[in-house]
Parts: sequence; structure tokens; C-alpha cells
Amino acid sequence: MMIYLDNNATTRVDPEVINAMLPFFESEYGNPSNYLTQYGSDISKRIDKCRSILVEYFSAQSINDFIFTSGATESNNMVIRGLVEGNLNKPIHIVVSSIEHKSILSLCRFLSNHNHNVSCTYLPVDTDGHISIKQLIESIRDNTILVSIMGANNEIGTINPIEEISEICHSKNILFHSDITQLVANQRLCLVKASPDLLTFSAHKIHGPKGVGCLYANINARKMLHPLFWGGNQQNGMRSGTLNVPGIVGLTKAVELLDKRIDTDIRHITKLRNLLLENLKRLRVAVNGDLNNRLANNLNIILPDTTSLFLHSYMPEVVFSSSSACITGVESYVLKAIGRNKKQLDCSVRFGLSRFTTENEIDYVSNQIIDATFYRKTIIDNN
Ligand code: PMP
Repeated sequence: MMIYLDNNATTRVDPEVINAMLPFFESEYGNPSNYLTQYGSDISKRIDKCRSILVEYFSAQSINDFIFTSGATESNNMVIRGLVEGNLNKPIHIVVSSIEHKSILSLCRFLSNHNHNVSCTYLPVDTDGHISIKQLIESIRDNTILVSIMGANNEIGTINPIEEISEICHSKNILFHSDITQLVANQRLCLVKASPDLLTFSAHKIHGPKGVGCLYANINARKMLHPLFWGGNQQNGMRSGTLNVPGIVGLTKAVELLDKRIDTDIRHITKLRNLLLENLKRLRVAVNGDLNNRLANNLNIILPDTTSLFLHSYMPEVVFSSSSACITGVESYVLKAIGRNKKQLDCSVRFGLSRFTTENEIDYVSNQIIDATFYRKTIIDNN
């Protein structure tokens, strides 16, 4: 038996996504760049159709707004590095939050250490994981070219006010990027309402395949962005390299399923997430992150009498996470940033739910956590 509750790390590929991808391995495996043949042209048209589906889902302007990549890491690198390279030899300033994904933070640190023209501000967060809007406004300088604030945090699930930040950036003529890798499965995003210039996400967090993702860049952003990869000029030269056709079809199918199911999914996931928390109430768990302004599928809690390591060994049949999967084994910089101490870090666990999670699974896991807690407490009390 295996119970999968690590959906902030990655998700099961939806069977409908697999079915949509299969023909692009088996028969329609041609290169879409070969559009002089009917065969290649049909595949190229299929990619355009995928872009149109994304335009419709996000209420974007043009199919050129979507650039397919290998995932959010590449997309995030393309935003930061692409803008730095698009502004060579000019002193530029970038504002990010201190709990962005490492694909933003590590790159900002690397660039500001190695390129004297690049400086970055890392906005602190409060105990719920929110940046201060006042501090954001105060951090903006004459040469600030980009503000990058994630839609929602992958560890603690706290959601940021994208619309508000977007408005601030636009009023100051600064590009706004949001990494929506976690948010996209948890909130319907309309680009007319919240109008960031750049968005990034990976397909595998929304029941799509791994190794494919997307960069949304509006026309203003595209004018300022340099490509990361140079080569065969695919995707209008913005991202050279043969297109990952099955991956792109899978990503798009995953978005189409979201369009159909997101409201039902959110209701189902929120109900089960609340049930998990309710079941664990008697343990007096503390919640990491903002419980109200939060990803429906995320519960990150501190267990008062159990460490995450103990819980992993007590219920090996349950897949969950101690902090973010990308940094397993390393202390969570996100939990540290919201003021958690070493003991709280050791006792923090993250559960990520999905449309496939069942009530029976939640009840089973809750009971296992309660048993583990009392078992460990007995061992400690007897020593
Ligand atoms: N940003 C966020 C918020 C994430 O959660 C992740 C995945 N953990 C990434 C970026 C990177 O995604 P990928 O590993 O698919 O490139």
C-alpha cells in the first residue's frame, strides 16, 4: 500500500494526460519544425492549438505569449538571466522575496556576486510568510527592472496578492514576474484581472508530465528578454531546441483538465485538508504559513511531540515531506525565514493533497500520526 501526500513536490500524471500524449510518441513523432511536409505541419499546428488553449485558459493576448521550456526552473532562470542579458552593462536592480524557490534565489545570489551591475533586494517575510507591501514599495529604485514574487510558496502554501503587486509594479513601469508553479493548480488565474508581465510554471504540479513547463511573457516583457538557449531559432528565437511535443501536449491537456475541474478539485481538496487538520487537533499542532490565505492542497504543521524523521520511519507507506523535496536533507530556509527554530524545523511536516486523495486515506494518515505521536511520547516519558 502507498498513500501519496506529496503533491507540492510532484503529482500523479492524470490518465487523460497520458492518453493525449501517447500518439505523439507512437505515430505523430515528427519534428514540428519540418512544416514543409504535411506531417510536420500538422504537428506544428497542434503546438499552435496548445498555445491557443493556454491563451484561452489564462485570458492572455497572443499565442506568442507562451514559451515552452523544460520546467519552472528553466523558466525562472530565463526570466532573471534573460533580463540581465537584455540589459548588459547597465546597473540593474531586482526585487525578490526571501522565500522564493531556489531557482530564483540561487541565481540572484550568483549574479549579484559575479556581476557588479546586478544588485538584488531580498524582501523579508512575516511569521505567516507574507512580504510587506510597504517594504516592497520602499525597495524600488530608479534602476529596478523586475519584481519577482511567487504566487504561492511551495513549502508553507502562503498565497501572495498578485493583483496588488502587479498594480504597484505597473504604476512604476517595472516588470512583474510571478512563479505560479504551486498556485496554478489551486487558483484560476485570469491575466486580465491580475496582470503580471511574466509567469512561470511546470506541468508536473498539475497532473502533467515532468520535464516540461511554460513561461508566459507579454509583449513588453518579450521585448526586454534575451533567450537562454541559442540555436535553431524555434519559438521565435526565444527558446531554441526541438520542441518536446508529447510534453507540450501533456501540459496543455493538464491545463484543459484544470479548466474543467478546478472548482470541484479545490472544494474536494480543501474539505480533505481541513479534515486532516481537524483530525489532528487533539495533538495541538501549529500550522506553518497563513491558514486562510493558503493553497488548498497544502498543510504544513509542527507536531509537538514527534519529529518528521520519526514519522517517516513510523509510516513508511505514506509519502509526505519534511520541507521542500528539492532541498531534502537541508534545513528549510522558508521555515527559518518565518521565524521557526531548530526544534520546530525538525518537527515540521508537509502534506500535499490532490484530486486523487480520498477521505479514507486522510483518516488513515491522521490515525497513524496520532499513534506515532503517543508512541514516541511513551518512549521519551519512559526514558
Ligand atoms: N518554483 C516553485 C514554486 C516550485 O515549487 C518548483 C518545484 N519544487 C519549482 C519552481 C521548480 O520546478 P521544476 O523542478 O519542475 O523545474
